[in-house]
Amino acid sequence: MDLILRNGTVVTHAEEFIADIGIEGGRIKQIGQELGASAKEIDVGGKYVFPGGVDAHTHVDFELMGKRTIDDFHSSTVQAACGGVTTVIDYVFPAPGETLMQAVESWNAKAKDKTVIDYGLHPTLFKPDDQMLQEMGDLVAEGHTSFKIFMTELGEFDQFAPQYVEAMNMAGKLGALTNIHCEDQCCISYITKQLEAAGKSNVKHFPDSRPRISEGLAAHRACALARIADAPVYLVHLSCEESMDELNDARAKGQTVYGETRPIYLHLDRERFNSKTDPERYVGWPPLREADQMEVLWQALDSAVLQTVATDHVGWSMEQKLEESAVDTLQPGMSNLETVMPMLYSEGIGKGRLTRKRFVEVISTNPAKIFGLYPQKGTIAIGSDADMVVFDPNKEVTISHENMHSNQDWELHEGFQVTGWPEMTLSRGEIIVENGKVLAQPGRGKMLRRRKFGQL
Ligand code: MN
Repeated sequence: MDLILRNGTVVTHAEEFIADIGIEGGRIKQIGQELGASAKEIDVGGKYVFPGGVDAHTHVDFELMGKRTIDDFHSSTVQAACGGVTTVIDYVFPAPGETLMQAVESWNAKAKDKTVIDYGLHPTLFKPDDQMLQEMGDLVAEGHTSFKIFMTELGEFDQFAPQYVEAMNMAGKLGALTNIHCEDQCCISYITKQLEAAGKSNVKHFPDSRPRISEGLAAHRACALARIADAPVYLVHLSCEESMDELNDARAKGQTVYGETRPIYLHLDRERFNSKTDPERYVGWPPLREADQMEVLWQALDSAVLQTVATDHVGWSMEQKLEESAVDTLQPGMSNLETVMPMLYSEGIGKGRLTRKRFVEVISTNPAKIFGLYPQKGTIAIGSDADMVVFDPNKEVTISHENMHSNQDWELHEGFQVTGWPEMTLSRGEIIVENGKVLAQPGRGKMLRRRKFGQL
């Protein structure tokens, strides 16, 4: 065997036990007590061994609203590795005139020499036409088995709704999953105009411009349209109880509907927009909500109303974040890959909101299952890729941009204190980060061809 991790407390979505893990050829070869000798052995007694995180929602290197992200496939995947995330699934945005397949090639060209962990790709559909519907089959055949649609102006959803429903139907027929950004543009446009007229279009009013009702309405419409299209759907970055109600209602009707939430909605609330220094940093779509919604989401995660936590990671410099000032032009998003697992652990398990098994399930196993990567990714089992994180449950860390690996010159969770931090991250059996030291060579990560959609 190439490597044995000895005496760790192995945690999967299903069980927890102390064992040795033997790794050979990048995969888990043996799990058991007192495995025989190996060239390299590491004692991880007293530490948890979790499957590496699978972050199904990232934007590691792209352009949005005329700006190019400050992070790329190297800096973003280094952050992921340092934080215990060993797989990302990144959203591919076709450039004007590019076909979906060309866009996938462009994405691989950006990733190829830079990424330090494995990655999958979700092609994004903008204004689907017949050619695009045709191409979806080719993409699924290549292992890109999920597609993204935006219900907002970004996707011109209201103008092209019938074509989007056809695309959902096509995805369903092909065995692919449609990922939907749920916010209602009619609500947003109407309210934004009202805010402007009242002289309230600055960042303090950003949450008012995209209220919970706009998300709930869009989630309702997404589920209803998915029902018509006879297709499974995955609703991304849900932030409030209105969306939880829609998930429950759709499931009660027998639909296959999955829900994702995002760290910012678990850890921060809209009071942040009253902060004196650069509240623009907190801008994301949808916005931060009222404080009581955080507990709604924790409960929804615990009770399996929500299936996954994913970051929507996107790195911007503070200058980029501060360039615009009106509610409808503020730059959305923030870097989040390095903190997602330790913060979910500290706030979730540390505060009694999640069990360790459920933590593994929402951050690793469920996204791997939903997006056709399980059991290669998302668990610790014989034959699975040796993607694991050795986690020190007692390490105390104060989060600061100085000890993060993003190219951002700021950190969203600056000063936040957590208990528990990754000590070592392995990707296909290779130790890629050890005690904060990045050992991975850029370009070692591989593009993943994912299987067709399978129910949890
Ligand atoms: Mn996103």
